[in-house]
Amino acid sequence: MRIIRAKVMGFCFGVRRAIAMVDEGAREGPIASLGSVVHNPVVVQRLQERGVRVVSSLDEVQEGTVAVTAHGRGPEIVQETQERGLRLIDATCPIVRKSQKAAQKLVDAGFKVIIYGEANHPEVRGVLAWTRGQGVAIIDPTEPVEIPRRKVALLSQTTKSEGSFARFVAQFVAHNIGRFNELRVINTTCPETDERYDAARELASQCDVVVVVGGKNSANTRRLAQTCMEAGVETYHVETAAELDPQWFEGKEVVGVTAGASTPDESIEEVINWIERWSEKEKATIPKLGGKGS
Ligand code: SF4
Repeated sequence: MRIIRAKVMGFCFGVRRAIAMVDEGAREGPIASLGSVVHNPVVVQRLQERGVRVVSSLDEVQEGTVAVTAHGRGPEIVQETQERGLRLIDATCPIVRKSQKAAQKLVDAGFKVIIYGEANHPEVRGVLAWTRGQGVAIIDPTEPVEIPRRKVALLSQTTKSEGSFARFVAQFVAHNIGRFNELRVINTTCPETDERYDAARELASQCDVVVVVGGKNSANTRRLAQTCMEAGVETYHVETAAELDPQWFEGKEVVGVTAGASTPDESIEEVINWIERWSEKEKATIPKLGGKGS
């Protein structure tokens, strides 16, 4: 049995950077992270052991250091932490930061900002906070939206694929063309996301079965698993090697492994090692041909 790794998988640069910043900060004392640094229980547990606890609001923090995750927050966070006498580690991903700045500039220029994305996603909530109430997030391009000055700007949640954002834009224009005079489209999708989906599709085309490693609460890992399934390959989504089932690999020749942008390298290696060990054991139990049979 052959094991193939996806060409691109695991932590994206924004998550890697955020974990490194929080890890570094934890050397100087305990940190309260506003939301999970990454949607992966293995990493959350490891950071917890290093003194990083997850909180949902500043009200839960009396002193010390607060960290903003790669998803970012609204502009008010700087002032709020200052007023409370807290130190701030801002690990907002630079790509998310660009999106926030674009939203702010567009609102200043009189545009209604529409974000293609999930309104409840932390990154989207953060970008919306930069629009001072002049932004909205929608998934359905036909959803009715007010466009007060007939100027509208379309942005995307960074983790949406470029293709799905392009479809959103086309359908939005077809549906609303009579309601605006000016349209700006800012492509705020993140290349790291598309690279992972493309690599997963390529992997799926080469394998009999694919294992997707990552948190069950990670939207991008779930979508990665969905991408492999849609490519027609048998797919399993696991958080750790402990969930692997030998039956998945019986009779299979090529096994693929990929992982979401929030999956740590050690979880990926654990899964690959488990499959390799299982495969070696299987080989050892296959009776050799050509010997003196009983
Ligand atoms: S997926 Fe892209 S935008 Fe999101 S944290 Fe990673 S690098 Fe940044």
